Amino acid sequence: MKYIGAHVSASGGVENAPLNAQAIGATAFALFTKNQRQWKAKPLTDKSISQFRDNLNAVGIAAEHVLPHDSYLINLGHPEAEALQKSREAFLDEMQRCEQLGLKLLNFHPGSHLKKIPEDESLAIVADSINWTLDQTNDVIAVIENTAGQGTNLGHRFEHLATIIEGVEDKSRVGVCLDTCHTFTAGYDLRTTEACEASFAEFEKIVGFHYLRGVHLNDSKPDLGSRVDRHESLGKGKLGWTVFDYIMNDPRFDDIPMVLETIDDSLWADEIKQLYALQK
Ligand SMILES: [Zn+2]
Ligand SMILES: [Zn+2]
Repeated sequence: MKYIGAHVSASGGVENAPLNAQAIGATAFALFTKNQRQWKAKPLTDKSISQFRDNLNAVGIAAEHVLPHDSYLINLGHPEAEALQKSREAFLDEMQRCEQLGLKLLNFHPGSHLKKIPEDESLAIVADSINWTLDQTNDVIAVIENTAGQGTNLGHRFEHLATIIEGVEDKSRVGVCLDTCHTFTAGYDLRTTEACEASFAEFEKIVGFHYLRGVHLNDSKPDLGSRVDRHESLGKGKLGWTVFDYIMNDPRFDDIPMVLETIDDSLWADEIKQLYALQK
């Protein structure tokens, strides 16, 4: 089974997200459990938590198919101790919010070395940050997203993901999320069936599909290898439909949340329908 949705709004409270997902015909979704551009957030209220759980139940979406995304401010590979600690505490708070909501996954971008330390050192810090957080929580899986590799962002090579995973002590609580736009602009071609075969074979070899816990379904405005992160609506960017057809018909992408982060939310309901229609 394929589970598809979008990164829906949680404005007015996290409890609204499942309803927003249902409204577009989604069977999975992503959300922010707090304002993604602020460090601090009020704790979730008991009312908000119980309504979220009730609404999730009511719309029939499993907790395993919800892929919360952390704040963009967090840098788990930060080269400076004080800023790193701030990021770690914010990430722990995000993971605890997921636990309160009964969710199983937390999706995040690995971090940035900010040109202050070598890449490998920063990757080791990311792994330590994950260990530090997992030690203080119970069952949420840390889901590392591959990135486009803008600026000094880590995570644009499959090797980066593998190195981080290697440094995580509890392998049962670490996974990855592949973003189709990021994969492509990071330099892995996905424009033809042959290119998809090759790029996903590379992913299997370096990381392994058993670590795949989620997918971001985005077309790309920028070109292959541009290292620029700009999403586009499905079929309207440099990728086209082939990769989405490929994913919808490949069982390695079964049973995980696959969510749109495409730029026009008025198209999401249609995009979900179109994706399902690709299944042979
Ligand atoms: Zn993404
Ligand atoms: Zn992106």
